[in-house]
Amino acid sequence: MNEYGQKETMSNKVLDRFFHPKSIAVIGASESIYSYGTRYIQALLDFGYRGKIFAVNHKGEKTLGYKIYRSLDEIKDTIDLAFITIPARFIADILKECIAKDIKTAVAFTAGFSETGAEGRGLEKELLKTIDGRLRLMGPNCFGPYCPGGGITVVTGADFSKEPGEVALIAQTGQLSECIIARAQGEGIRYSKSASYGNAVDINEADLIDYLMDDKDTRIITQYLEGVRDGRRFFDIARRNFGKKPHLIWKVGLTQMGASASSSHTGSLAGTGAAWDAFFQQTGAIKVSTLDELTDTTVAFHHLPKGCGLRVGYISGGGAGTVLGADACENAGMRMPAFTEQTEKRLAELLPGVGLSFRNPVDVGHPHPPKELMQSLFETMSADRNIDLIVVRRILFSVKMSKIFSGSTAPSEKEQQELLEVPVKVMRKYNKPIIIILPDDMTGAESIYLEEERRKIRDFFFAKGIPVFMSEQRAFTALSHLSKFKLKNSACKAADKKIPAPLSGSKTRRIFQDLLKKSTASIPDEIQCKKVLKSAGIKVTLPVRAVSKNQAIAVADKMGYPVVMKIVSPQITHKSDFGGVRLKLENKKQVGTAYNEIMAAVRKMAPKARINGVSIQKMAAPGLELVMGMTRDPQFGPILMFGLGGTSVEILGDVAFRMTPLTRKDAKEMIQQIKGYPLLEGYRGQPPVDIPYIEDMLMKISAFAEENPEIKEMDINPILAYKKGAVAVDARIILDEKMT
Ligand code: ADP
Ligand code: MG
Repeated sequence: MNEYGQKETMSNKVLDRFFHPKSIAVIGASESIYSYGTRYIQALLDFGYRGKIFAVNHKGEKTLGYKIYRSLDEIKDTIDLAFITIPARFIADILKECIAKDIKTAVAFTAGFSETGAEGRGLEKELLKTIDGRLRLMGPNCFGPYCPGGGITVVTGADFSKEPGEVALIAQTGQLSECIIARAQGEGIRYSKSASYGNAVDINEADLIDYLMDDKDTRIITQYLEGVRDGRRFFDIARRNFGKKPHLIWKVGLTQMGASASSSHTGSLAGTGAAWDAFFQQTGAIKVSTLDELTDTTVAFHHLPKGCGLRVGYISGGGAGTVLGADACENAGMRMPAFTEQTEKRLAELLPGVGLSFRNPVDVGHPHPPKELMQSLFETMSADRNIDLIVVRRILFSVKMSKIFSGSTAPSEKEQQELLEVPVKVMRKYNKPIIIILPDDMTGAESIYLEEERRKIRDFFFAKGIPVFMSEQRAFTALSHLSKFKLKNSACKAADKKIPAPLSGSKTRRIFQDLLKKSTASIPDEIQCKKVLKSAGIKVTLPVRAVSKNQAIAVADKMGYPVVMKIVSPQITHKSDFGGVRLKLENKKQVGTAYNEIMAAVRKMAPKARINGVSIQKMAAPGLELVMGMTRDPQFGPILMFGLGGTSVEILGDVAFRMTPLTRKDAKEMIQQIKGYPLLEGYRGQPPVDIPYIEDMLMKISAFAEENPEIKEMDINPILAYKKGAVAVDARIILDEKMT
């Protein structure tokens, strides 16, 4: 059973019926062509739907030649999909009829639910209760499925492409999915299926990603995402896809972290967006920010199925273009390396003119070079082992444009057509991607004929598997997503990706539960916190409490010097802010003095604080100060932080976040991600620290945070890291008051 109480076989495979229904009942289709139900039937007919269609309505006789049934009951055939367009308040009853007729999938097209307020939310709850795991519902307030292979389209998709492709799209919004599909069509992109799933009462983004990951017709998953219904499940599923299918997410509106005021560094540093950043790092999903970026990136993945590397060989028809290209390339995180000596020599022969560049980026001097020259250039660059792909900018594959700039010296139509064939031939021969940038140079209405030619040329290249982009920025942004996707996957070992199994009923859990029982404050003291962490396998300097000066001296004597003394008070969590920490105490006398000083300082600075004595612990040897912490994201649950620690953590804010459970890869990457990473590797004569040990520590904290849901936030700051091992010298665990 899954969380919907449905049998597993029901949850996923059944989604096929949304996309390949053999029969559809359109509930709400009326005699009026303006009713959505009837418009939907018309769209299906226009699109060429081959299955059976049944119109259902409480009144009317016929619509578009179809008999209108009074109820589902009257239909003798089996129904694969119910498409519901009747008013919101009647939908629950219709769903009961669907279930009675053994219909397993339904789309609720109708709006007027939670998007309108409390009453609508109530209606949604009723829908969920009604279906009770017996039917899968898409919507309400959605367009539903489009699937060329299944012959099914959306109400506004009569004219969508009927040709199936390998790209899937999911989006809550109907309008935007319509606009993405319409746009992508002109860029040579074809869809396996798309789903607009609206308010996601039952089927949400997690279900759809789960389904598409296993869908053999889908190679690339694209998504427009506002918010998530069930962040944790979405994350878990998206992460299972790491390195498999490219998953592009156009994410808008970032989650608001910790609505309540945070009492830990981790909480305040997490802020807005940390969870989403972690999401993208850990799932390998690709974050895009605009419609253009989504389309361009889909183009790159679609047209270059084997991917490409980062090393660009660049050709421009003019010097300025080389500079623009070099900037855009570097900004996108790609590279233009030097050619091999052999390539440079050959290019120097090919490009003897003054002012031309035969180094990367190459300048051929003018925008309509002869085809023989282009052929040799492409061939030479394609053969270069330093180059992964070739990008060509504004070499005019356009006769009309050439005429504007070159008048009667412009090449003929025939010559241009031959030029167009050159990159196609070379790409086939060398199997190295070629990418073309064709900008829309002249944009006035009177130049519309240029745009027509530009699009024809673009379509020609798309059809031959050569992607075309509008500008160097757009090209390099899309290509960098593609090349990084390939790199990331090849760089990662399978063992490092393994998601650790959750702990349950461990000894630490029992010790923690014991602490919960005893703890009167929402923040247990350092001694209690460290005891639990110790049992979770984290090395700590374990403190011993003393309630008088003499006791403090006795404890220190027994422990052995040097020691550290800290105030113990439920009201004081940032101890040094109140003069509550004394370090490096070497003997009885210093311990006595420290005790007096701490008491005096704390009484003065926090007169109302209840003092439960002091704690004595071993003074740890100096090391690199690190911080590890945890907070809870309202949508995603526990999220871990790692960074440079000590008292300056909030000023520097040099931290990285990942969601739990951490894989070895996550631990490695979050350590490498911080700016201070060179310090860990050993900077300017300092010894390096034990990075594998720190990875282990992070993974232990991850398991600990996962197993104990009563922990709201946690700061282990600092951890002193050494050449060998590391030790936590301070720890703060904040309990969730609602759960304790
Ligand atoms: P606070 O509550 O102010 O964070 P800490 O317990 O972290 O107090 O102590 C403040 C600083 O003292 C730490 O950042 C660390 O540099 C140092 N410190 C604390 N405990 C030890 C220890 N056992 N050994 C070495 N240094 C310590
Ligand atoms: Mg501290």
